[in-house]
Order: sequence, then structure tokens, then C-alpha cells
Amino acid sequence: MRVGVLALQGAFREHLLMLGSLGVDTLKVTRSEHLAGIDALILPGGESTAMVRIAAGTDLFATLRDRMAGGLPVFGTCAGLILLADRLSDDSLGGYDRLGGLDITVARNAYGRQKESFTAPLTVQGLDDPVAGTFIRAPQILDLGPDTEVLARHDDTPVLVRQGAVWGASFHPELGTDGRIHAEFLHHLGVAV
Ligand code: GLN
Repeated sequence: MRVGVLALQGAFREHLLMLGSLGVDTLKVTRSEHLAGIDALILPGGESTAMVRIAAGTDLFATLRDRMAGGLPVFGTCAGLILLADRLSDDSLGGYDRLGGLDITVARNAYGRQKESFTAPLTVQGLDDPVAGTFIRAPQILDLGPDTEVLARHDDTPVLVRQGAVWGASFHPELGTDGRIHAEFLHHLGVAV
């Protein structure tokens, strides 16, 4: 099992370190050819506008969508969640290709500005103790379709969701040393960590 991390921009190093600390083989993904060598993919936080611009004009997202249609497990965090959302509440990424795959509507930056970043305890389905979720200019999930399962909420709003093999989080599970959410994602893929 090798897990790729999309490394166009953003917090990909933190995800690579977290996966490494769980003993998982990793690959930095920057081009479509890299997708052939992975069994799952993490889309990190960062700046979604930068990511879609860097990917534009390449075959990376189209190839990735094909792999997702074939069942590739993908976990998007923060900006990564924005890439996976089937719908955005505004057209601030207008014209740029994204991925889709999660039947949700997302509002970018809805938790406020950088200085309004916060960390909150989150009760996560399948975990005994709460996880400290850090929200940084985070996207908010406004609605979700019937096949989207909610694994954690903050103030009643879903913040960790899953639709089949596609997972999304509004917050940053790669910050700090708590690898339990990554481990949960991997457990659902049948990987014991
Ligand atoms: N605000 C960023 C965006 O819209 C996401 C922030 C993050 O990933 N921490 O892309």
C-alpha cells in the first residue's frame, strides 16, 4: 500500500510526515504519471485557488477523476475538501477545473479569517476520545446528499464526512502528532496501522 499526497501547494509535508509516522509508504504527487503508483491519495490544505491554477492545463485532475471513478480512495482536508466538493457556494474558483466526488456544498473561508483560526475538540465516529481539530480559513459544509455520511460535527455542522471511499475534512488532521484520523481512513482501506 502506498499513499500519495498531492504536492502542488500547501501542507503536503505535514501529511507525508504523519503517514510516515504511521509506517505508511508515501509518494509526492505532482503529475498524472504519479497516480499509477498509488493506492490512495490525500489532498492537503493550503490555497485552493493556487492548486487549481497550477493544475490547469495539465491532465492531472482529469486522470485523477478517472482513478476516483475506478474507486481510488481520496481524503481531502481543508483546501482539499474544496477540490472534492460537488458544489461551491460562490464562483470564486470560477472557470477552473476541480475534482468533485463528494455530494456536498461548501462555502470557502466561512469560519473567518486567518486570525480567527481556532482549535476545538471533535467527537469522531469510531474514536473513543475527541480529536483536536484546527480550523484555518476553513471551508464550511453547508449541505450534503443522502449518500454522504457525517463522521464528526462542530456546533452541529458536519466537519468530517465520507461518501464511499472519498473522505473530506474542514479542519487539519495533519497538524500536531495525533494520527488517529489518518489511521481511521487507512483502516477503512483495510490497512492496519
Ligand atoms: N481558505 C483556503 C481556500 O479557500 C483553505 C484554507 C486551508 O486549507 N487551510 O482554499
